[in-house]
Amino acid sequence: MSDLLELKVKLAMSSRMLFNSGLVDYSGHISARIPGSDHLVILPHPVSRATVKPDEMVITDFEGKLIEGKYKAPSEVNMHARAYKARSDIQSVAHLHNHMVATLSMVDKPFYPASSNPGAFFGPGPLPKYMDPALIHTIEQGDAVAQALGKSDAVMLRGHGSMVVADSIEWVFAGCVDLEEAASRFYKASLLGPVLLYNEDETQRVMKQRRKDSVVQKVWDHNVAKTKLAGLMDGIGI
Ligand SMILES: [Zn+2]
Repeated sequence: MSDLLELKVKLAMSSRMLFNSGLVDYSGHISARIPGSDHLVILPHPVSRATVKPDEMVITDFEGKLIEGKYKAPSEVNMHARAYKARSDIQSVAHLHNHMVATLSMVDKPFYPASSNPGAFFGPGPLPKYMDPALIHTIEQGDAVAQALGKSDAVMLRGHGSMVVADSIEWVFAGCVDLEEAASRFYKASLLGPVLLYNEDETQRVMKQRRKDSVVQKVWDHNVAKTKLAGLMDGIGI
């Protein structure tokens, strides 16, 4: 299997897994940088995230221009493209309209994902927030999101959702699962009273325990199995 085909297969798998986890519905997307190029590979705009196939993926440059594919790219492709342009360490990007992170983004209160074990993929400190609620349709808007992201692993988009970045598709997928679970716990805990945020030492220790390839692989394998059981991995070529 070529490296590009492997990326396309993993993107199709992770899209179906994100759907099966309730993290994308008819919108939301995950992409990967094509190593050694100024191109990215991403889900197409019109195809269901629950059934997308490897050969339906499209390729764009870092200005969002379609280079290859029979469908058009997602309307918010510049969020992905400009993140890759801004940071050479980023190999994969996901954009989610995830419910709990979007809910927290609407409140004038910081969200500390690393205050619970699932959130240990992020932080220390609160998740950065991009304040413009408009969808990301232009290069300039993509640049502004990348600026809000800074050196972080995720940014919340006010009233909209989030963008998660990492150096592999597997790490981005695990980050997406982790972030939404952390947001859900943070939201529920906030309803009960002041959240007992982890101090610096506690944050560093839980991060050290969670940020491992073995943990990411466990999250990935579990979700592959769960998505197969749901009957959503058919026709993907694995
Ligand atoms: Zn969006």
